[in-house]
Amino acid sequence: MDKISNERILLLHPAIRLEVQNAINHINKNILGKGVRMRITQGFRTFKEQDELFAQGRTKPGPKVSNAKGGQSLHNYGLAFDICLLYDDGSGLFKEVSWDMKRDGDGDGIADWLEITKYLTSIGFTNGFITNGKKWDFPHFQKDFGLTWQKCFEKYNRKDYISGTIYIKL
Ligand SMILES: [Zn+2]
Repeated sequence: MDKISNERILLLHPAIRLEVQNAINHINKNILGKGVRMRITQGFRTFKEQDELFAQGRTKPGPKVSNAKGGQSLHNYGLAFDICLLYDDGSGLFKEVSWDMKRDGDGDGIADWLEITKYLTSIGFTNGFITNGKKWDFPHFQKDFGLTWQKCFEKYNRKDYISGTIYIKL
């Protein structure tokens, strides 16, 4: 797995960390063929980082990228991650970053993005095709353990954390 994905996985909630690590290894090794890799682009986000994303396209320049303020996204509890695809041009460096949902880089007749979505949802992750305002958030996956963001927020404020961490108890 690439270094960036690994660093992001290590900041995810302990309840999904190993599972996501295994999932990405499985996807890269057994599901995506030669020349295609999955990367984790975002994982855990602090409330401050979330507020900054929310401000983009509102009080700060740029397109709107999120409809969630600090505490309103499962990213803020380490329970969500976003993905992209990496393609190799033959150099073995996987330098091309892509969010193309139709591309079939491994040539097996199924879009790479769909293969990933199918697998991740089969092991209990929910894809962001649940509407994110006007936009569908296809790169997003989360596992909520039956908790809404409001419930997570409440636990967070109560400091109902796993001992020695800032991850909420599930
Ligand atoms: Zn996301």
